Amino acid sequence: MREQWIYLKDEFVRKEDAKISVYDHGFLYGDGVFEGIRVYSGNVFRLEEHIERLYHSAHSILLNIKQTPEEMTQLIVDTVKKNNLESAYIRVVVSRGPGDLGLDPFNCPEPQIVIIAEPLSIFPRELYETGLEIVTVPTRRNRPDVLSPKVKSLNYLNNVLVKIEARLANVSEALMLNDQGYVAEGSADNVFILKKGILYTPPTYVGALEGITRNAIMDVAKELGYEVKEEPFTRHDVYTADEVFLTGTAAEVIAVVKVDGRLIGKGIPGEHTNRLLEAFREKVVADGVKVYQVHENTNVS
Ligand code: PMP
Repeated sequence: MREQWIYLKDEFVRKEDAKISVYDHGFLYGDGVFEGIRVYSGNVFRLEEHIERLYHSAHSILLNIKQTPEEMTQLIVDTVKKNNLESAYIRVVVSRGPGDLGLDPFNCPEPQIVIIAEPLSIFPRELYETGLEIVTVPTRRNRPDVLSPKVKSLNYLNNVLVKIEARLANVSEALMLNDQGYVAEGSADNVFILKKGILYTPPTYVGALEGITRNAIMDVAKELGYEVKEEPFTRHDVYTADEVFLTGTAAEVIAVVKVDGRLIGKGIPGEHTNRLLEAFREKVVADGVKVYQVHENTNVS
C-alpha cells in the first residue's frame, strides 16, 4: 500500500499518526477555514487564487495564519511532492487550533494547519455522458449577511443539510435557494444556466461561494465569445434553461439534465456544456503552478 504523508504541526506525519486535539476549535465549533485544490499532471490549478481565498477567509474571521502566503504555497507544493503525486486532490485546513471548552477564539494561541494530498478519485465517466439529476431542497442558503459565502469556513452544516436532503430524495446533489427564493448554489458546487446562448451564474451576494472553477469557466466562456452574466435567477429559470451545469474543483463541469423532475433541454448534456468542459480541460495545465518539471505529452484526464 502506498504511504500517505500529511502535513501537520510543522512536519510530515503518516496518515495513521495524523491526529489533532479534541480541544481544537475546528472540531468543537467548526472554527476555521479550508480549501480544496486540484493537481493536474503535476500542475496545481490556480494555486494563487486558492491561496488568496484562504487568506481572505482567514482574515475575515480574524484567524491569523503565521505562515506567509508564499510559505503556504511552498508547503502545499511540498505535500504533493512528498506524496509523489501527479494528479491529486489537496485539502488545506487552517483551524483556530486548540483552546479550552469556551467559545472564545482569543484563547486559542496556535492555529492548526493540516495539508492532505490524495490521489484523485475521478468522478465516474458515465456521469459526464449521462449528466446528473438533481433537486432543489427546503434548506435555504445561509444569509450572506449572517455568514458570508465568500468565507470558505469549516462551518458546513448548511451544506451538509442540503446533502442529506439530496440523498433522501435519491439524488447525489441538490440546489439551495436563498431566503428570497433565488438559486444560490449546490451543496459543494456553483451553478450555471444557459439561455439563448447567454451564460448566467448567481452573483456571490445571492449566497454563492466565489468558486475557483466558476471563475475559470467564466474566463473560458468569455474567451470562447459567450456573454456571461452574474445575475440572480429563480427555479423557474433553471427549469426552462437550455442547459444547466455545476462547477467545482472535484467535479470540474458536470451537466444537469433533470431538476425537480423537469427535463432540462433534451435531457442529455448540452453541446455548450461539453464545449466549456473541453475548453476548461485544455486550460488546466496552462493555469497551474508546476510542482515538478512539466512532462511532455502528459494526458489530462
Ligand atoms: N460552493 C461550495 C459551497 C463549495 O464548497 C465549493 C467547493 N469548494 C464550490 C462552490 C466550488 O468551488 P471551487 O470551484 O473553488 O471548488
